[in-house]
Amino acid sequence: MNTTGKVTGIIANLITVEVNGPVAQNEICYIKLGDTKLMAEVIKVNGKSASVQVYESTRGVKKGNDVEFMGHMLEATLAPGLLSSNYDGLQNNLATMTGVFLTKGEYTSPIDMEKVWEFSPIAKPGDKVVAADWLGEVKEGWLPHKIMVPFSFKGDYTVKSVAKAGNYKVTDTVAVVTDENGEDHDVTMIQKWPVKVAIGGYKEKPRPYKIMETGVRCIDTLNPMAEGGTGFIPGPFGCGKTVLQHAIAKQGEADVIIMAACGERANEVVEIFAEFPELVDARTGRKLMERTTIICNTSNMPVAAREASVYTAMTIGEYYRAMGLKVLLLADSTSRWAQALREMSNRMEELPGADAFPVDLPAIISNFYARAGIVTLNNGQTGSVTFIGTVSPAGGNLKEPVTESTKKAARCFYALNQSRADRKRYPAVDPIDSYSKYLDYPEIAEYLNKTVDSNWVANVNKAKNLILRGKEAYEQINILGDDGVPMEYHSRYWKSELIDFIILQQDAFDSIDCSTPMDRQEFMLKKVLEVCDTPVEFEDFEECGAFYKNVINIMRQMNYSVYKSADFEKYLEQLNKVINHDN
Ligand code: ADP
Ligand code: MG
Repeated sequence: MNTTGKVTGIIANLITVEVNGPVAQNEICYIKLGDTKLMAEVIKVNGKSASVQVYESTRGVKKGNDVEFMGHMLEATLAPGLLSSNYDGLQNNLATMTGVFLTKGEYTSPIDMEKVWEFSPIAKPGDKVVAADWLGEVKEGWLPHKIMVPFSFKGDYTVKSVAKAGNYKVTDTVAVVTDENGEDHDVTMIQKWPVKVAIGGYKEKPRPYKIMETGVRCIDTLNPMAEGGTGFIPGPFGCGKTVLQHAIAKQGEADVIIMAACGERANEVVEIFAEFPELVDARTGRKLMERTTIICNTSNMPVAAREASVYTAMTIGEYYRAMGLKVLLLADSTSRWAQALREMSNRMEELPGADAFPVDLPAIISNFYARAGIVTLNNGQTGSVTFIGTVSPAGGNLKEPVTESTKKAARCFYALNQSRADRKRYPAVDPIDSYSKYLDYPEIAEYLNKTVDSNWVANVNKAKNLILRGKEAYEQINILGDDGVPMEYHSRYWKSELIDFIILQQDAFDSIDCSTPMDRQEFMLKKVLEVCDTPVEFEDFEECGAFYKNVINIMRQMNYSVYKSADFEKYLEQLNKVINHDN
């Protein structure tokens, strides 16, 4: 018999319940309200009293209402059919809702139970297996979706039988495995997993050693993201966080994309639904949505559900990683999630940490980021979850607790800068504040020098140094005036402008400039450095400015032309003339 209880207190979404039996931290319960039931999660247990946060509006809940505890935590349902679905944070399927919003107490099935999938076996009778080992496969869109030994199965099993190739529903038994005690267990294509617990079932999780290309130059060239790596994009409102994240989603080297959208405004979420289904995947020519799951919070859901959504998204990501796929997980914005934590912590009158966030905010954030990673599966193949979150610090203040805690947890930092955005220098990633710690990993440097160019990392550091020196020169010119500094300062400043205009700035809305493959990035960086290395004599600073402006104009035309096309070659020839003429 499940534990039950009665409501004793209500403060907005926080409800206290007097219970008649054991309840566990994070256990799910339902509060009865007339004919409906409201889903809630236990966040604190104290003697016979449990505090639960309700995932929807508690309007109408009274003292004395019945509560039923479920004996399990908030779980994600994992099965074929997750891709191309839109869910809310509790994995309600938004396509099957009855109205624009779910009505109160309405929960829908995340998976179509009637759909049949073409199954083919992988394991055979007698095989020794453990949790997460592959038993068979169905095609989900064009991706192979592995049917695995459920993650919750502990210990060693022997495959007794596997269904033969054919059409099955997710609830049909597709394999039987026998445990160490000789007991048989049916395996279907559907399983559940508590979202706040990381899915294991792999052999090892080395630190990232490969690059994930994004086609975004300020990332790939200057501060690369690793496959299975973590990064975050902090920036004030309107600086381009969402545009940058969408560019990464569209162009990133990934098999599966999971978008957790915790928008501050309803229209931002609507934009995702309007834009994403239209996007075509440049690599396959198919709809991007076919390999995407969107998890978003409808605006009628209270903050508590936002917290759930990032965990649900991560759990689905780990599920696909266990199939040997590359998963790209994006959350926009994680500040909303932190605010939910703050609200609940304040209502419970916990001792507050910085800015009234819970004291354990840094731990909560770093535990979450730690779930990303590249893993070696039991069969030797690899799978990965790469995680990039945005943070929207109030007033653009990067010293606030969510940004600071995330900085400790994430390895890449793409700081969006208000003044760059104001000057329309997009993406507004600050070239000096931003970093990728992966560049310091010897295995990543080796990977880049092997796959891009033997001098790549040295060239990247050279470009970064030029940007820094350009900024210093700019400050000196501002203080001492154009004529008060040596000519050298002017060319230093213009060299950093050249790198800014040609490498950093990238038009996300231009069909050619939006995405730059690595060989093209290599070519452009080399060309830019070649210009910077060319010694040029100038009469005065105006001549210096004119020279670099001319180079910038020509190279921008190159950025907007198809790589190695006749146009591109024409501009390249022009550029070479300009450099050699003044030599
Ligand atoms: P945020 O999510 O930080 O609030 P958005 O991503 O919505 O900001 O960006 C705001 C606006 O900035 C966009 O609508 C677009 O006009 C402009 N913008 C941002 N990044 C780029 C880019 N890479 N290229 C061109 N325009 C951009
Ligand atoms: Mg945004």
